[in-house]
Order: sequence, then structure tokens, then C-alpha cells
Amino acid sequence: MQGFNKYYPPDYDPEKHSSLNAYRGKHALGDRARKIDKGILIVRFELPFNIWCGTCNNHIGMGVRYNAEKKKIGNYYSTPIYSFRCKCHLCDGWFEIETDPKNTRYVVVSGARQKDEEWDPEENGGYAVHETDPNQGPVDPLAALEKSTAAQNHMNNVQIPRIEALQNLSDHYSSDPYAHSQRLRKRFREQKKIDKAREEADEAVKRAYGLPEVLALPADDDEEIRAKAKEAWEQGRQALEERESAKRRKVGVEIGVVPRTPSSLRASGSGGKSSRNSGSSGGGDPVSALRAKILGNTARQSGSLGSLGRLKPPDTKLSRVGLVKRT
Ligand SMILES: [Zn+2]
Repeated sequence: MQGFNKYYPPDYDPEKHSSLNAYRGKHALGDRARKIDKGILIVRFELPFNIWCGTCNNHIGMGVRYNAEKKKIGNYYSTPIYSFRCKCHLCDGWFEIETDPKNTRYVVVSGARQKDEEWDPEENGGYAVHETDPNQGPVDPLAALEKSTAAQNHMNNVQIPRIEALQNLSDHYSSDPYAHSQRLRKRFREQKKIDKAREEADEAVKRAYGLPEVLALPADDDEEIRAKAKEAWEQGRQALEERESAKRRKVGVEIGVVPRTPSSLRASGSGGKSSRNSGSSGGGDPVSALRAKILGNTARQSGSLGSLGRLKPPDTKLSRVGLVKRT
């Protein structure tokens, strides 16, 4: 029985007995440590896979628990290898299972057969998680040498010059911060002056033409923008001139036609507008009506055709006269 209680007997001497367990001659793990002198600790062990007992040939399912004798039997590098010796619960046989740190699994050593239900990734189209092929030969020494030579060349030809260039650049930029700052501030001051002058010029233009304050004027130092603006200005000017000349011509025609019609109307004695519109079909003076109509047509023609219209009147006049006469 383990020393659960904290009763210290009268003959207990802490100098002589380091602990209560030592005083009673018991291990702290109690009965489970009864074979501790042989390096065996009794633990609860659960079967990690299905097995068949080697003695009674019964199937024992995964997850059945046993009081197993746990023993360290070796090392894989620094990892201890343990063996678990269990007594079959259906017969008197014993079987032994070991850990396999190399493959991170358990193996049956004796007294039973393991049911092979391992998932093989390679068999199922995957990759082996643990490469434990003992027949893998040593690495090709020439290939390894070639690889290291290529790496050395890359270091000498690419990496070292690149690092040196970066170092030089860094030195160049961080050697004299005062001069850099001065140069930078000087440039900022100049730019600020230019910006201010431009802003003032824009303000003046906006004030002169009554443009909105928020309107952003394009910078005039661009040749393309200048040329575009000039072209637009010339087009606008041409259109204005054409409009003006057309208006002037119209006014001139009206002035030229109007004074003549009253005299001819007075001579004919018929209605002014009807005689002018209906031309020769109406009664009265056909010659003066025809003349008024021709003049009106000429004015309209020259108005629509511009300067070229002036060359055409003789032909037009003839055809118009012909037409008028036929009707
Ligand atoms: Zn058995």
C-alpha cells in the first residue's frame, strides 16, 4: 500500500529517512513499480491495432487495454525504444509489442500476429511520408561537387558584385546628409517660387474673365496644350467671322431689294407680297417681279455657298429664268 497519508511515526527521522515512502520501504508508484528493480514498470497499455493471439489464435481488437510490463530496451538516436509485454486475457500466453521511433509506429515482436491494415500513401497515389529506404545509395560525389562549384561561381559573379553595388549606393546616399538636405531644400524653395507665380497668374486670368475660383487652368508650359488652344481660338475666330459676314450680306440684300419693290409695285398696282412670292404667274408687272425673285435667290445662294457663290450666278440665273418661264 502506498503511503497516502501524512502520518509521521515517532521513530521517523528526516535525517535517516529522506521521505515517508523511503521510511516504509515503498515506491511512490506503489504496486505498479513492484518489478522496478528489473527495469519494469507496469502501465495500462492499449492495443494500437488488431492482433491474433499466437497461443490461442483468438482475434483481439484494437483498443483492448492490458496491464503491460513497460521496459526500455534501447535507443533510436536519443529516443528510447520501449517494449510492452502483455498477457492475453483469453489464455495464458504472452505477447510483446515494441515502439518503432524510426517509422513512428508499433511493431509486434513476439506472441501474436498483427493484422495488416496500414495505410500506404504510395499505394494510394500519394507520397511516402517517411523515406526509410535502407538501400538508398550515397549521393553522387561529382554531382555534389558540380553543385557546390556552381554555387561558388554564382556567389562570385552575381551575389558579391550586387552586394558591393548596394553598399556603394548606400555609402553615396548616407555619407553627407547635410549636403543632401541642403540640396533638397533648395530645390523645394525654387519649385515653391514657380508654383506661387503660376498661381498668381492664374488668379489674374480668372479675375479678368470672371471664371469660377475652383476652375483649374492647365499649365501653359506645354507646347501641345499651347498649340491646341491656339487652334481652338483660330477656329472660333473663323466661325465668328463667317457668321458676321453672312449677317452683313443678308442685311445688304434686304436693303438692296426692298427699295426697288415698292416702285415696281406702285407701277403694277397689285399686292406686294403675293406678287413677289408667286412670281410671273401673278398678274401686274412680270419683269420687275422676276427681277426681285432672281435677286432674292442670288442672295440666298451666295449666303449658303460663301465666297464661291459669287462665281455661279450667271448659270443659276439662266436656269432659274428657264424654270420660271416654263411654269
Ligand atoms: Zn491468447
